[in-house]
Amino acid sequence: MIDSLSTSAAGAPQLGERLQRVRSAIDHAARSNERSADDITLIVVTKFHPASLVRDLVELGVNDFGENRHQEASAKAAELRDLPINWHFVGQLQSNKAKAVRSYANTVHSVDRASVVSALDTPGADLLDCFLQLNLTEDPQRGGVSDEGLERLAEQVLAAQSLRLRGVMAVAPLDENPRRAFERVRLASERLRRMEPSADAISAGMSHDFVDAIAEGATHLRIGSAITGNRPAQG
Ligand SMILES: *Cc1c(COP(=O)(O)O)cnc(C)c1O
Repeated sequence: MIDSLSTSAAGAPQLGERLQRVRSAIDHAARSNERSADDITLIVVTKFHPASLVRDLVELGVNDFGENRHQEASAKAAELRDLPINWHFVGQLQSNKAKAVRSYANTVHSVDRASVVSALDTPGADLLDCFLQLNLTEDPQRGGVSDEGLERLAEQVLAAQSLRLRGVMAVAPLDENPRRAFERVRLASERLRRMEPSADAISAGMSHDFVDAIAEGATHLRIGSAITGNRPAQG
């Protein structure tokens, strides 16, 4: 596969190398924490990158991709609909876009308020996997539900007919030690599992902090630049 890539896409071997390096680091971190890398899903976040990069990564064996803007995500999903891809929506979600996100996303990682839950819930539709995004900062402008609001939001998702609660999601704040931030995420996950034992997934860990996230139990890593290289300027 890598051979065919090197002839079809300039720069692809480099991409393969970066992917391989991240995969080895995940394996190593999992083993150091007596976990199996098989229990960890690598989601490659491809925002601002062209669909052709996603195609190259599928050739390299990646099937899970993350996007954070609806327009860009829906265009890529349409262009790549021939490929076996699970799309993960990881960006802040406006209620008026929620229904449209459902049309291509397999999983939404950023459920953070009641209006988004009701906008996503489409009785009769297939189950949509959802993560509750936690706000680990004091800033209400950042996406995510507050620590105190977790149980109430979980009840709303559990009561929805077409949503499946998978677990919690978070982004580590810039001004906090990531290991400590992810420890808070793990504690929130334990609270959620007391309500719904099957909601045991943890979406945490990005390019610079995924090793700490794995140590605190992350099951879904959202890794962008360490694999894709720097993002092109925002268009
Ligand atoms: C962009 C983004 C990522 C990936 O970030 P990198 O630092 O490039 O790995 C992960 N999660 C969310 C929510 C993002 O917006």
